[in-house]
Amino acid sequence: TTWTVTVTAAKLTDGATVVLSFQDMTAVEDANDMRRDFVANVSHELRTPLTSLLGFIETLRGPASEDRAAQTRFLGIMEQEAERMHNLVEDLMSLNRVEGQARIKPTLQTNLCGLIDDVLAAMKPRADAAGVTLISEQPSGAVSILADREQMWQVIANLVENAVKYGTKSGSVGGVVTVRLCAPTHEPALLQTGVRLSVIDQGDGIAAHHIARLTHRFYRVDSHRSREVGGTGLGLAIVKHIINRHRGRLRISSVVGQGTEFTAFLPASTEKATESSS
Ligand code: ADP
Repeated sequence: TTWTVTVTAAKLTDGATVVLSFQDMTAVEDANDMRRDFVANVSHELRTPLTSLLGFIETLRGPASEDRAAQTRFLGIMEQEAERMHNLVEDLMSLNRVEGQARIKPTLQTNLCGLIDDVLAAMKPRADAAGVTLISEQPSGAVSILADREQMWQVIANLVENAVKYGTKSGSVGGVVTVRLCAPTHEPALLQTGVRLSVIDQGDGIAAHHIARLTHRFYRVDSHRSREVGGTGLGLAIVKHIINRHRGRLRISSVVGQGTEFTAFLPASTEKATESSS
């Protein structure tokens, strides 16, 4: 613990009185440490692809200036590196938008069924390329909650994208990713917890000691794999902030060798849908 001690001397008629005031600076120092760590992480994440880009530019100007095949290959790698930086900047901006925002009560009804269908349609090309089958399980009829549609899109998209990226067992191709939606109207047990939205994969799973830190910024179980699949290490931090902002809760359960389930519990809407954002 770090203390700041302020000494004030007050001269009274019967002599001098010294006043000492103590202030615990631990929280301030912790915040400074976190800020420094964050800046160091961002710099590191940007420096790696930038160094690579600069290296390739030099090679293209010099040794590879006459080699068409090498130029095509290097430009491909440079595009990937630029995309990596682009993803990082986009994720940083998203995180900045949702972090620190007060818990708000959105006013627009969002139909989660339609939203899930839209996200899965957008993710299909990526899943097809990875040999992953996307399955949607939802109750019949609309399940609407008061939510920011764009942010909910991001939650579902980040979780499905991760399931596609990491949900394939090592050494094999493909798998199944299920997005399951349950609502209190169909399952009375959910009256307490609200709407339950799960993204389930059949990948290698995550060892228990990693689980609590998965939503920390830049935390990765396997950095090499994350970078290879274009991860920024910010996806789950963004997911957690958005869910918190909606007064919800994120649960992560995983069995090594069997797969992982990310579940968002979101307050069910008690109001009749008057407006619709979906
Ligand atoms: P990234 O951009 O690296 O994917 P995330 O914040 O989305 O960052 O996820 C953090 C880490 O959690 C990932 O790097 C990966 O190691 C792990 N992870 C996320 N989703 C899954 C999953 N479905 N199965 C196994 N590991 C996962």
